[in-house]
Amino acid sequence: MKIFEGLANTEERAAIRDAIRSICDQFDDAYWADKDQKHEFPFEFASAIAEGGWLGIAMPEEFGGAGLGVTEASIMMQEIGRSAGYFAACSTVHINIFGLHAIVKHGTQAQKEAWLPDVISGKTRACFGVTEPDAGLDTSRIKTRATRDGDHYIIKGQKIWTSTAQQADKVVLLARTTPLEDCVKPTDGMTLFYTNLDRKYAEIREIRKMGRHAVNSNQVFYDNMPVPVTDRIGEEGKGFRYILDSLNPERILNAAECIGMGRRALEKAVAYADERVVFGRKIGKNQSIQHPLAENWSELYAADLMTLHAAELYDAGQPCGAQANAAKYLAADAVFKACDRAIRTHGGMGYAAEYHVERYFREAMATQLAPVSREMILNFIAERELGLPKSY
Ligand SMILES: Cc1cc2nc3c(=O)[nH]c(=O)nc-3n(C[C@H](O)[C@H](O)[C@H](O)COP(=O)(O)OP(=O)(O)OC[C@H]3O[C@@H](n4cnc5c(N)ncnc54)[C@H](O)[C@@H]3O)c2cc1C
Repeated sequence: MKIFEGLANTEERAAIRDAIRSICDQFDDAYWADKDQKHEFPFEFASAIAEGGWLGIAMPEEFGGAGLGVTEASIMMQEIGRSAGYFAACSTVHINIFGLHAIVKHGTQAQKEAWLPDVISGKTRACFGVTEPDAGLDTSRIKTRATRDGDHYIIKGQKIWTSTAQQADKVVLLARTTPLEDCVKPTDGMTLFYTNLDRKYAEIREIRKMGRHAVNSNQVFYDNMPVPVTDRIGEEGKGFRYILDSLNPERILNAAECIGMGRRALEKAVAYADERVVFGRKIGKNQSIQHPLAENWSELYAADLMTLHAAELYDAGQPCGAQANAAKYLAADAVFKACDRAIRTHGGMGYAAEYHVERYFREAMATQLAPVSREMILNFIAERELGLPKSY
């Protein structure tokens, strides 16, 4: 049984959903559980999505993309989240969808021609290196330095949580070109690069983590890595501002992923509730089983509407910071509850790998923390929408 069909409220959007579903359906729970258990990157899935041309859904047509909006990309990501691949499948392709937006917006024509077609075709794999051990939510604290030396910058420092670095050829890298103490604003003095992740100078160590094992996250140690000046995106010192441009679409895509994942967990719970017999009747006859599932349906549906609203505002060029953040907040909470309830509904079997809901739970937890935590979203809304003092 399928829980509501999500954002796809026009024929074109439904066609995107159906096409993505037919790709995802080739990779079942057994495939993903195996990848999770073996900590293996899902190359087959990544290629299938790339071959369909989907990595370029929101990229300009001039470079081989489809030139569609965040709304359409959200439909795609929701459907990937709803598949057996869950958050791992989303994370396999996530950065390709909007992670290179800074290049689209601030790159030169030559950079776009050189870089975007290969990302869209899946020939190049990119990762995103922003977070550092002492700079998570407070990006202004990054210490990785980029020091100009003729026609190169020399990168020295350490990043953490760089997802897919094991497979990546390229990295979108944020580094300080001006020390924090010499900047007028803490968010000044950071510069963005898109460059080769050169293993001669970058040591990559996988982080052992709770879930989403098919997609690695890593510590990356940069030891005087030379980066050509031509790999700098936009102007020196404005990197943080360029990253801000893609924050709202990223929140929206993240929300869409969460809703898809929530729908899948809820579908599994409903199916089990309607089948498992205890005390001579289906457990789904008990309101203590029914009500949390019905409540979760309402939460997922509401989050879906907020996500669609935020996506349509963004695509119409309207401000959407509060809506994008609220969508991420609501959706991450809804998927967390969906997974929690799916496990409880399955009883002891919810804890067994066989029913997959424990894998979903482990993966959904990450959406509470990254790329932005629920606390930071509430801080933002309290300040911007309620006019309360800034607390961060
Ligand atoms: C699975 C996974 C994949 C990731 N992939 C990438 C990636 O590819 N590239 C990348 O650069 N990063 C990545 N990250 C990093 C992620 O973006 C950070 O973990 C996230 O930004 C949070 O930063 P932090 O972990 O340092 O938390 P911290 O900044 O240390 O915060 C810790 C806690 O304190 C709370 N807190 C802090 N300040 C306040 C405040 N003022 N008010 C209220 N609460 C506060 C936070 O909400 C949080 O709960 C990934 C993380 C995970 C878990």
